[in-house]
Amino acid sequence: MHPARINELVALDHQHVWHPFTPMRQWRESNPLIIESGDGDCLIDAHGNRYIDGVSSIWCNVHGHRVRQIDQAIRDQLDRIAHTTMLGLTHEPAVDLARRLCNLAPGHLNKVFYSDAGATAVEIAFKMAVGYWHHTGQPQRNRFIGIRGAYHGDTTGSMSVGYDETFHRPFKSMVFETDFVPAPDPFHTHRPPEDTTDRRWALEHPDHCAAIKDHALQALDQHLSKCADRTAAIVVEPLVQGAAGLIVHPPGYLADVADLARRHHTLLIADEVATGFGRTGAMFAADHEHVAPDILCLGKGLTGGYLPLAATLATDTIEQAFTGEIHEHRTLYHGHTYTGNPLACAAALASLDLFESTNLIEHVNRKAELLAQHLNPLRDASRFPYVGDVRQRGLMAGIELTIPGTDGATGFDPSRRWGADICRACRDRGIIIRPLGNVIVLMPPLAIRDENLIYLTDTVVSVIADYPFE
Ligand SMILES: *Cc1c(COP(=O)(O)O)cnc(C)c1O
Repeated sequence: MHPARINELVALDHQHVWHPFTPMRQWRESNPLIIESGDGDCLIDAHGNRYIDGVSSIWCNVHGHRVRQIDQAIRDQLDRIAHTTMLGLTHEPAVDLARRLCNLAPGHLNKVFYSDAGATAVEIAFKMAVGYWHHTGQPQRNRFIGIRGAYHGDTTGSMSVGYDETFHRPFKSMVFETDFVPAPDPFHTHRPPEDTTDRRWALEHPDHCAAIKDHALQALDQHLSKCADRTAAIVVEPLVQGAAGLIVHPPGYLADVADLARRHHTLLIADEVATGFGRTGAMFAADHEHVAPDILCLGKGLTGGYLPLAATLATDTIEQAFTGEIHEHRTLYHGHTYTGNPLACAAALASLDLFESTNLIEHVNRKAELLAQHLNPLRDASRFPYVGDVRQRGLMAGIELTIPGTDGATGFDPSRRWGADICRACRDRGIIIRPLGNVIVLMPPLAIRDENLIYLTDTVVSVIADYPFE
């Protein structure tokens, strides 16, 4: 790109663009990176520099950028039509995709409601759950149980069930009340009364994990024993709480939550917006524990990371509750202008074809092992005193930085910008990553080439080794 054009774009961006999750004053004091193109697992900036896309363009890219088959599928669809509504009409890519998703999804999820973002998929799930109970004669079942620290998106409903004091404080008046239960979080939770576990690599301490899991499940069971009859659904991010800081749940937690939901006759909503589409080494994270949720939320990787599309899947039983005579007004009166956009559905279909033709899930499991091996040097506490924990499930990993001698449970001073500084230093070495506070996140495209996965991981480890903590 011509240098004059770059300068112009920077000036105009600073003048006119309000960026998501971005402290804008500091942004305007910085020199923004302009991405001009992509190529496989890399991004290329306006100066022609290449970077590994280490967080898959915020957790959504699957097969890489400019993948021939997906590009072609979108072009082919473009030659037919770019957009048509699903209000009162239907189209081929949406129908084909719905059938594919129902075949892939766990359990008996047999109905697909499209939208355009993870947050809207979650909102729709909430309305399905509350509406289901309303229409089946139990309208008092209208509250949700959320897992503390959960993230479900930034619309008001999804914000309510993922309440975060820092992000949401000004909007407290907008969110609805939710019943929160503790997360099964082995690194950040003390096991009472006295607990001397070294929580580095906390997930590898089976006794500690079992205790933390039992504690979380007991709290949920106790809550349900009192409040099941006012509960519409339990909402959970299966296996990994993403934006909470890559909190990996101890094995078996999800299956036990599903059991509790069943025993207490409430619904289970699985938010697989981040974990879906192979990220954890199975098509859906719930598959690892053979869990069949009543409602499943999908987004991010659905189109391979190409276009905004989301889907909320429900059982026939739930959908049936919304059927009746017109005058009964059971219809789910919800929709978005771009619901089920044909270009996005075509991209999703091409992405699903690639999962099959490239055996992608198998490769994810192999690459996850490679990632684990190359994260291994961080175990050396004398070399990495500031690495408190490393967590990984499939191709999602979090490296948590903590003050030596403290642990995750004793908190962290957010004014120390270690995470942001380290990610910034990685950029000079050809890697784009974005932290969650003091957690360095590695979440590359699932199709990342082995040599780039190794470079990504080794570079992050070496940048942490060289970083002047204090
Ligand atoms: C990203 C995310 C969302 C929100 O998706 P958007 O497309 O950003 O609205 C919801 N749930 C989880 C678990 C997520 O990671």
